[in-house]
Amino acid sequence: DVADLPGVPDWLPGHLRAEGIEELYPPQAEAVESGVTEGGNIVAAIPTASGKTLVAELAMLSAVARGGKALYIVPLRALASEKQAEFEQFEQYGLSVGVSTGNYESDGGWLGDKDIVVATSEKVDSLVRNDAPWLEDLTCVVSDEVHLVDDGQRGPTLEVTLAKLRRLNPDLQTVALSATIGNAEELAEWLDAELVDSDWRPIELQKGVHYGQALHLEDGSQQRLAVQNSEKPTAAVVRDTLQDDHGEDGEVTEEGGSTLVFVNSRRNAEAAAGRLASTVRPHLSGDEKGQLEGIAADIRDVSDTETSDDLADAVADGAAFHHAGLARGHRELVEQAFQDRLVKVVCATPTLAAGVNTPSRRVVVRDWRRYDGSAGGMAPLSVLEVHQMMGRAGRPGLDPYGEAVLVASSHDELDELFERYVWADPEPVRSKLAAEPALRTHILATVSSGFARSRTELLEFLEQTLYASQTDQGGRLERVVDDVLTYLERNGFLEVNAGELDATSLGHTVSRLYLDPMSAAEIVDGLEYWARHAGEPEASDEPVDATADGAFSTASELAEETEADPEDISALGLYHLVSRTPDMYQLYLRSGDREEYEMELYEREAELLGPTPSEFEDERFEDWLSALKTARLLEDWASEVDEETITERYGVGPGDIRGKVETAQWLLGAAESLAGEVDSDAARAISQARIRVEHGVREELVDLAGVRGVGRKRARRLFEAGIGDRAELRDAAKPVVLAALRGRRKTAENVLENAGHRNPSMEGVEPDPDVEVHEES
Ligand code: ADP
Repeated sequence: DVADLPGVPDWLPGHLRAEGIEELYPPQAEAVESGVTEGGNIVAAIPTASGKTLVAELAMLSAVARGGKALYIVPLRALASEKQAEFEQFEQYGLSVGVSTGNYESDGGWLGDKDIVVATSEKVDSLVRNDAPWLEDLTCVVSDEVHLVDDGQRGPTLEVTLAKLRRLNPDLQTVALSATIGNAEELAEWLDAELVDSDWRPIELQKGVHYGQALHLEDGSQQRLAVQNSEKPTAAVVRDTLQDDHGEDGEVTEEGGSTLVFVNSRRNAEAAAGRLASTVRPHLSGDEKGQLEGIAADIRDVSDTETSDDLADAVADGAAFHHAGLARGHRELVEQAFQDRLVKVVCATPTLAAGVNTPSRRVVVRDWRRYDGSAGGMAPLSVLEVHQMMGRAGRPGLDPYGEAVLVASSHDELDELFERYVWADPEPVRSKLAAEPALRTHILATVSSGFARSRTELLEFLEQTLYASQTDQGGRLERVVDDVLTYLERNGFLEVNAGELDATSLGHTVSRLYLDPMSAAEIVDGLEYWARHAGEPEASDEPVDATADGAFSTASELAEETEADPEDISALGLYHLVSRTPDMYQLYLRSGDREEYEMELYEREAELLGPTPSEFEDERFEDWLSALKTARLLEDWASEVDEETITERYGVGPGDIRGKVETAQWLLGAAESLAGEVDSDAARAISQARIRVEHGVREELVDLAGVRGVGRKRARRLFEAGIGDRAELRDAAKPVVLAALRGRRKTAENVLENAGHRNPSMEGVEPDPDVEVHEES
């Protein structure tokens, strides 16, 4: 009973009852018995939708009630705002909640006053690197989806961060929430925690496989679907789910419900949503159609792109797609409409399974393989991932049970899928810390922030990681560590003297900037290359000079003597430089791209900050071209090419453009600091390139676009009306400003106010008819 919880604040039982929670779910009760409300360390490995969030809340609220401070680590930035909204319900009881994402370089001082802080593991890692003083006041840390320590990309950061927090404060309560995994007891051992390992669910889940017009479920039963001619399996499931069930006397025994369909790529998600729209449409009531039209209009308002249009078209018919390429506004509208039961089917890539709370009557895992670059082809999903997707089936209180099926196209596949997924247990979670890129970053950070001052201390610290507790290959960690130390020393990030470790000034900067040392090395090399080659005449095969002793010196040798000219550094060159670092997720080359970008490369090679790899170095050359493609996208964006054209030209979604732009902004900011560190003259050019990419404008608009509320399109219109910068905007005639902003008074007033105008009112002002305003090009 929620009235009998030790250690929680007095108001909590009443609050929970008002939320409809009278009793704890069994795994929650087990966590309380294991001391989660009394400062105890807990690893809770329980299925999706079985109330993990409340376990976290019990821990954090009781920690705060004892005068402490709690940190909640989310695995995805997209989840931070969702958790924040959830915890803000406690502000009515006097607690304060802060969220910290993005902007890696600050110590987030203002977070020091908050009782509960929500952040991604990357952000927490960066706070540790920047010595955020309040981290030492933490008394409770919750790590959500801790099984992601298994992720090759991001797992090591989570692992090292938890180890560091626990070292900063040895009494820190650690609560780790995990999906059901094969080796939860190992995680518990690593974190000195009590284990709550359960497969209890609040609503029954039947897993199974769709084959031959029927759902084959794990209890041995089969459900036939009435299939319409030539209907695909997914469509048949969606339609069947939509239909009400009727009892013998014809009354409705169960209302129709919704389906969540998981596919393996964004394009497949969009295509499937388009097709399933025609399955859903005939089942919509007039009222639903009206409401869906309204949501579709909101979706079109979010952005002016083909993705936006396609999504709106599907939503108007009660179907939607959901993937990481969507703008945030799109995602929110889709999730809400699905929860409101207006959208009846969502076709999603696995990001949705990773935590967004959108349960559904049925789940179809349509694709169980996806493209995997490191495997060089299609690779099967893990059991853990498939079970997490399946766990989204069944809405407590609404559905009698949930059903989740994979799709088989042959009898053999039916058997295989049962073996591989339905009856299988999730894989054990393994640390990925020993991978070199991960160690490179984390060893530098560990030394730079003073966690380890010698090789011995470093190895001691690493002993506290999951990796160390899992490995039985003695000596392996030590060998990799030594390789990494050599790399860091050779590139000028660390000094090693008789086993003592010291970060150089460059090393400290790199660690604080949150760069992969390899990215920093690439940027520094690029800047040095530019300093040597700027001002160089067009490359030529001819020797240009003969010295006295008859030896030739080439154009490039001559140029080494010339001072680099900052004006010569092209924005494209800088975009290419940051795009080829391991911190930028490059665009793929599609078929046909290779020729296009090879041509582009030979035309613009002189602008690039580094020597083009030989075509015989296949992988490096390919990488160089992908970086060029990415750089061209950034250049287009910074040249005011409209979003729609960019999405078509590069085959990306609007969310991807934002993603690339944000990463480039961060890396260019870092490059600016590095330029200062190595005495390069490039800082000003880098700053210019960064601001252009931030606002998506050409050089002449940089100042105007920096005025809040202006943005790239309005800046261009103002410029065309003869207003060149912020100062001119303040002094401009109001009718001109109003006309340039297409007669929008509210907007004009806002913009003038943000530009520092003393009296921005537009009352009685009429737009100047002589100002020509172009519609969107
Ligand atoms: P998870 O984080 O494990 O995926 P959630 O914490 O989001 O799952 O819980 C799923 C739903 O169950 C939420 O809507 C939550 O309010 C509800 N819930 C959690 N605990 C209880 C409980 N003890 N009694 C009733 N409902 C609960």
